[in-house]
Amino acid sequence: MHEYSLVLSLIERVEQEMRSHNAVAARCIKISVGELSGVEADLLSYAFEIAREDTLLRTAQLEVTSVVARWQCAGCARDVDSQKGLICDSCGNPAHLVEGGEILFESVELELPSD
Ligand SMILES: [Zn+2]
Repeated sequence: MHEYSLVLSLIERVEQEMRSHNAVAARCIKISVGELSGVEADLLSYAFEIAREDTLLRTAQLEVTSVVARWQCAGCARDVDSQKGLICDSCGNPAHLVEGGEILFESVELELPSD
């Protein structure tokens, strides 16, 4: 499952972050998932719940934000409506994807020791 390996690398990344800050726990982890990234947000959340057991993240919550795909003309940089085809209305250049194709790690809220 693609989502599961993604979650594992996310956990590794957050654990590194926690170690470098001596954090005792992670609270909220925010990621954004593009609609064209090929990843299902539901599956990702489910995979996280399984994978977080036995890690420093077992009490952490994953917050997944879906990002709608956005296309822009490579020539004049106008937004292109993908429903009408991926060619720019005004200059005829092909559109390229500027948002919605990737998975981004946004932030993590860490709990620090209260000495
Ligand atoms: Zn254009």
